[in-house]
Amino acid sequence: MEYAYDDQNIFAKILRGEIPNKTVYENDHALAFEDIAPQAPVHVLIIPKGAYVSLDHFARDASPEEQVGFMQALAEVCRITDVAQGFRSISNTRVHGVQDVPHYHMHILGGRQLGRMLQG
Ligand code: 5GP
Repeated sequence: MEYAYDDQNIFAKILRGEIPNKTVYENDHALAFEDIAPQAPVHVLIIPKGAYVSLDHFARDASPEEQVGFMQALAEVCRITDVAQGFRSISNTRVHGVQDVPHYHMHILGGRQLGRMLQG
């Protein structure tokens, strides 16, 4: 599969500092920031700093260092947001997954009871 990365997407602009964000955590390989339209008391987006369009692209092509850095960022987000009672991680992907922003991101949602996984 070909993955075509568009560097004009909104998260690429955030990574370049062209658009502000409320940073929760950052390391060499990942940035975590608050979602602009939160759907739960905790709603953080974690993105790799590399140019990956989706979870499957990241899993296939990201280096071990990038993948470890991303997961370390996830651990720090969970610690910082104190989601001890649980959370949901979501990576919407392409058309069936209803992905709006074509730069890989993982949603971390928590802070309330989230209900069952799929509504319809
Ligand atoms: P997707 O539907 O691609 O999985 O989710 C994209 C997410 O990005 C949405 O939850 C949306 O609210 C968030 N988002 C879109 N534009 C911005 C922005 O400029 N800043 C931030 N912080 N979040 C954004």
